[in-house]
Amino acid sequence: MVYKNHPMVSRVVFGRGSFNQLEEILTPKRNGRNAPFIFYVDDVFKGNHWLTSRIRLSYKDKIIYVPTTEEPKTSQIDDLVEDIILEFSELPSGIIGIGGGSVMDMAKAVSLMLTNKGESKDYQGWDLIKNPAIYHVGIPTISGTGAEVSRTTILTGPERKLGINSDLTPFDQVILDPELTKDVPKNQWFYTGMDCFIHCVESLKGTYLNAFSQSFGEKAYALCKEIFLEDHLSKEDAQDKLMMASWHGGMSIAYSQVGVAHAMSYGLGYLLGVKHGIGNCIVFDHLEEYYPEDVALFKKMKAKHNIKLPKGICKDLGDNEINKMIDVALSLEPLWENALGKHWKTIATREKLLALYKKM
Ligand code: NAD
Ligand code: ZN
Repeated sequence: MVYKNHPMVSRVVFGRGSFNQLEEILTPKRNGRNAPFIFYVDDVFKGNHWLTSRIRLSYKDKIIYVPTTEEPKTSQIDDLVEDIILEFSELPSGIIGIGGGSVMDMAKAVSLMLTNKGESKDYQGWDLIKNPAIYHVGIPTISGTGAEVSRTTILTGPERKLGINSDLTPFDQVILDPELTKDVPKNQWFYTGMDCFIHCVESLKGTYLNAFSQSFGEKAYALCKEIFLEDHLSKEDAQDKLMMASWHGGMSIAYSQVGVAHAMSYGLGYLLGVKHGIGNCIVFDHLEEYYPEDVALFKKMKAKHNIKLPKGICKDLGDNEINKMIDVALSLEPLWENALGKHWKTIATREKLLALYKKM
C-alpha cells in the first residue's frame, strides 16, 4: 500500500472582517512593479463598494470581473492566460480568486497554466502538472464546495468535465471571512451548502472511508445538520459554521472520494450545463436506494427551506444525449468504486442510470 502524501493550503486566515487584511497579506508577495496581482472577482460584486474598496490596486494590478452563469471552461482559462501574457512584461506576483467555486477554480487554473505550457485541456486528469503555479489565493464568498481546500480545479473541456488534480493546485493562501457570504441568495445558499452535505454523505458512506476522512466528514455533517435543520443559530453563526463545514467537507473527500450524486451530476453538467450545486441536489433527491437515511434528511432540509427543484430536465432528451450523459457519469470510475465497491459495474449498469436520469 502506498499512501498519498497530501498537499494542503499553506496559510489560512479565519474571521469576520479578515478580508480587510488582504493588502497586508499580499504586499510581501509582490515581485516588483511589473509583476501585478490579478484579482478575479465574481461579477455579482461589480459596483459593490463594500467589497471592492478593500481590493487596493498598486502599479499594474488589475481586477477582472468574471461572469458565473456558466462553470469554467478550458478555453476560457486559456484565453485568460493569454490575456495576461500579452498584457504584462512579467509573470504576475499572484492570482487571487474572490467568489464561489467557479471563480476560485478559475484562479487556481490560471495560476497553473501561466507556468505550464500548452492548453489546459491537456492537464485535465491526475498529476499531469509539471511546474509550480504562480502564488495563488482563494477567498470564498459562498460556502459549500470545498474548492478553497481541494487539490483540484474542475473544468469543462471539449471532451469532458474533469478536474486538473495535482499537488500544485491547492491555494498558497486562503482568507475565510464569513461576512463575505452575507448576500448570497437563499436558493444558491441551499444548493452550494448541499454540495457540502453531499460531500460528507458520499465520503462517510463510501468504501474508501478511513479515520482521516471520517473525522472531517463527521464534523462537517454535524454542522450541516445544525445549519439546515435547527433553528437556534444566529445568521452570523450559521455563516461562520457553513464556511467551516465547507472546509471540513473538502478535507474529508481529499483522502477519499465522492460518489453517485457527483458522478451523475457531472453528466448533467456536461450535457445540459446544469451547475454543480443544483445538479447534485437534483440527482441526490432520487438516490434513496443508495443513501436512504441521508436522502430522507435532504428532503427534510428541502422542505424546511421551501426549496423547489426543477423537474423533468431529462424527459425530452434523445437516446444519443442520454447515452452521452451515461458515458460521462460512468467514466468517473473512482467515484463509483468508492460508492458501490469493487463490483460496482454489476450495480451501476447503463439501464440503471437511464432509469434514474429519466426520473430527473
Ligand atoms: P458559483 O461559484 O458558480 O456561484 C454561484 C452563484 O452565487 C453565482 O451566481 C454567484 O454570482 C453567486 N454568489 C457567490 N457569492 C455571492 C455573494 N457573496 N453574494 C451574492 N451572490 C453570490 O457556485 P459554487 O456552488 O460556489 O461553485 C460551483 C463551482 O465549483 C462549479 O464550477 C464546480 O465545478 C466547482 N467545484 C469545485 C470544487 C473543487 O474542489 N475545486 C468542488 C466542488 C465544486
Ligand atoms: Zn461537489
